[in-house]
Amino acid sequence: MCGIVAYIGQREAYPIVLKGLKRLEYRGYDSAGVALLNGNGLKVYKKKGKVAELEDHLSGKDVGSHVAIGHTRWATHGEPSDRNSHPHSSGNGKLAMIHNGIIENYSLLKQELLKKGHVFNSDTDTEVLIHFIEEIQSSNQCGLEEALRIALKRVVGAYVIVLVDEDNPDTLIAARKGSPLVIGVGKGEHFLASDASPIVEYTKEVVFVNDYEIAIIKADELILKNISNERQTPYIQKLDIELAAIEKSGYDHFMLKEIFEQPQTIFDSLRGRLDAKSGTLTLGGIREHAAILSQAKRIIIVACGTSWHAGLVAEYMIEELCRVPVEVEYASEFRYRNPVVGEGDVIIAVSQSGETADTLVAIESAKQKGAIILGVCNVVGSSIARLSHAGAYTHAGPEIGVASTKAFTAQLAVLCMIGLKVAQEKGTITQQRFQHLLDELDAISEKVATTLKLNDQVKQIADKYKDARDFLYLGRGYNFPVALEGALKLKEISYIHAEGYPAAEMKHGPIALVDENLPVVFVATRDSYYEKVVSNIQEIKARKGKVIAVVTEGDQTIPGMADDVIEVPAADELIAPILSVIPLQLLAYHIGVLKGFDVDKPRNLAKSVTVE
Ligand code: GLU
Repeated sequence: MCGIVAYIGQREAYPIVLKGLKRLEYRGYDSAGVALLNGNGLKVYKKKGKVAELEDHLSGKDVGSHVAIGHTRWATHGEPSDRNSHPHSSGNGKLAMIHNGIIENYSLLKQELLKKGHVFNSDTDTEVLIHFIEEIQSSNQCGLEEALRIALKRVVGAYVIVLVDEDNPDTLIAARKGSPLVIGVGKGEHFLASDASPIVEYTKEVVFVNDYEIAIIKADELILKNISNERQTPYIQKLDIELAAIEKSGYDHFMLKEIFEQPQTIFDSLRGRLDAKSGTLTLGGIREHAAILSQAKRIIIVACGTSWHAGLVAEYMIEELCRVPVEVEYASEFRYRNPVVGEGDVIIAVSQSGETADTLVAIESAKQKGAIILGVCNVVGSSIARLSHAGAYTHAGPEIGVASTKAFTAQLAVLCMIGLKVAQEKGTITQQRFQHLLDELDAISEKVATTLKLNDQVKQIADKYKDARDFLYLGRGYNFPVALEGALKLKEISYIHAEGYPAAEMKHGPIALVDENLPVVFVATRDSYYEKVVSNIQEIKARKGKVIAVVTEGDQTIPGMADDVIEVPAADELIAPILSVIPLQLLAYHIGVLKGFDVDKPRNLAKSVTVE
């Protein structure tokens, strides 16, 4: 969570940092702040609320500076307020620091520092760390870099921090463990950020800082060291994202833009991998491990949120195609419950950002126990991607809307390809079925484009039901995780209580909620469960529930029962979730907009969950 940006060079730093914070607002938006360093010393400005409020607060003020750090916060310790916003300052006011992450032992450190007379102006863990660094600097009579190194050896938790020092105005110091940090390398200038989006406009050359590395950054010099003070060679990589990919391009919201990008993003996730004409599937990132994958005793999919739903669809797909047991785990549970995992197990870690803290730690410990890790991430060069033995990027492009849409469908496409590849390797799929599924995947982008034509119809349905207090989403088989995902989208964007359930399971509880006021969304495309789902619809109608059904084009039965019907193109049941989720994304989007909410920045949420 939280976005950090910093600049050092010849340009005006404040506009660069401000724009960068706006690009990173998806990571947190409860307060924002900047520290500017110029001939008049170090100035810190911070404000509760979104970055725009900080901008208003600073309008008319002297913001001239060539060195600046900025932060947009997602509070973990201390409520969102001006005083808890970052940057935080040392007691003598000479140092300012921004931080992404959690200092878990902050309370202990704070007690020590209070005894030494430190006075704190916030409730954050971050302020404790900057005072701790200051304390070491003065008691050891050492430089900032040395003090930071000593401090970090005692810190438990996750962090990216960036420090400015009034006494060393030509240097920024940054460090990372567990949260992401990218450094953009320009000509006589450097840019620091939580992801590449604030940087891409200025330079395509970047360095992804590793855990336990400290960076000492001047306008024309970048020194990387490990925590033992040994120089590391910065590995400069070329970014392959374009500026247009991180702008709204005429859409009202990133979420809508990203929903409408799906024909292209799914195409991109298949491109160069799937060749339906020649009947081949090439996944370069797993080629070397294909044999190990096919011998796996068990596959465990570890993920959070929407990615966990993609994992559930993949469980159905992979068990069906590869005849290997698949478990799907919430990363936050998996990492703490001492799971039985080891050699012979393959872990598939699914994460849009590739930085999800729980998923990252979960795979670290599984890797130590001998499991093979396969990463399915969207962000190239992200921590999970780098920690994995093998993997496949989803290639959905930057996803800015906090509610994930295009990343989900790209994950489904990639997970399906992984399933097909392993099935082919194991010989658990006939050539005919393999070719059929390749053809189906090949056709899916166009069907997604057709599905998006339903936008106006879905908007009308949204208007009809937007005032409902609760929603129920039901589906079976491959469409059960889609029901979960539909309910999650609605909760995230419109703050309406929604539950997803297996359609048959609703008789064991949720059916008690059904009355004439409850909209029930059925994901009821034609598949092996279809007849059963039709019965479940009858059960809801018999109790006067309002049924909104997502069905396959040409369905003759359900339109006679449902209150509202949304028809999507026919597709093989393995792949149908890529289509059936789209009306549910649109429904959540339109209800959120009609209710007047900021759908790109829903309350309390942040996109890249880099804290536990
Ligand atoms: N733990 C810090 C705070 O609550 C940083 C949170 C963040 O990553 O935004 O201020």
